[in-house]
Amino acid sequence: MSYLVLARKWRPKRFSELVGQEHVVRALANALDTGRVHHAFLFTGTRGVGKTTIARIFAKSLNCERGTSAEPCGECETCQAIDAGRYIDLLEIDAASNTGVDNVRDLIESAQYMPSRGRYKVYLIDEVHMLSKPAFNALLKTLEEPPEHVKFLFATTDPEKLLVTVLSRCLQFNLKRLDEDQIAGQLAKILDAEQIAADPGAIRQIARAADGSLRDGLSLLDQALAYTGAAAGAGKLEDAGVAAMLGSVDRSRIGALLSALAAGDGALLLQEVATLAEFAPDWNSVLDALAEALHHVQVRQLVPGAGVDGAGVDIDAIAAATRPELVQLWYQMALNARRDLPYAPSARAGFEMAVLRMLAFRPGQVEGGTPPPAGASGAGKAT
Ligand SMILES: [Zn+2]
Repeated sequence: MSYLVLARKWRPKRFSELVGQEHVVRALANALDTGRVHHAFLFTGTRGVGKTTIARIFAKSLNCERGTSAEPCGECETCQAIDAGRYIDLLEIDAASNTGVDNVRDLIESAQYMPSRGRYKVYLIDEVHMLSKPAFNALLKTLEEPPEHVKFLFATTDPEKLLVTVLSRCLQFNLKRLDEDQIAGQLAKILDAEQIAADPGAIRQIARAADGSLRDGLSLLDQALAYTGAAAGAGKLEDAGVAAMLGSVDRSRIGALLSALAAGDGALLLQEVATLAEFAPDWNSVLDALAEALHHVQVRQLVPGAGVDGAGVDIDAIAAATRPELVQLWYQMALNARRDLPYAPSARAGFEMAVLRMLAFRPGQVEGGTPPPAGASGAGKAT
């Protein structure tokens, strides 16, 4: 049996299975149920948030053999063909590789003919902003007076590049990036259904790396399963394995770094940086992880009742050993260091300077051999 990638296996087949995008789903469902379906929709938003999936469900809703509604049956031949991506009246066109006017002419010509099987022909044109100007103009006429049996779904990551005349003829929807919780929730659900055990931290890391795209999250999950060998009833998707695959930082290293800082121990601090360097990390992500940990420390200090997931960092110890205003300062320094990293002699040097600066700004700790904050810019006087 061939392995079906998770993103395909778990592609939602009905509107109710979609993660996020409730505003789009509600508008489409209302239109379908009342029978007033606009002839052109424009979906804007980043990659992997559900454009093709929505288009397919929409095509099913329009063409399901049991009638047009927001709840296609999913069982008739039409529904099954669309789910399998082989339905003759759903035409998916990638404008990025079909930019010319000839491609559009072909499309417009075919749009004049009645659908082969269903009630509607649905055209999904992805990355529509890539069409050439003549191609747009050719399309415009059809958009003005489209045949009754044609629905256009346009998708773009860059709506600014579309002509106003095109925009004004479409109903526009902005597809939102998914947040970490939505992605983590879906990953957990799928792992559960596939009966694969996983650390919550491992899921969290993948959800974070997915950066708003559920499809990317599922691809990363596929990779992580291949990398760690975790499978149904065999092994477990663990924190460390996922961290190694993502090339992300082991959170306990961040904890050690912060402990050295809190203790004002410069030698230990540099040793920790050297240990990190052995893994050739992306120093930007290390700064990210550092800022994230500092955020958690601050929450623990100022809102003790709020739940904080330390993710491998001993938040309590660091919160007790540092003053809240210092944590604010360090956080700001971590962010500034990210901004300055491209200008540093090397990324590692930039990172090392950032943590040394944090060390320098530990006020009132001169006796430990830590340099006083003298000479640094005024922002640092946190005493
Ligand atoms: Zn059906």
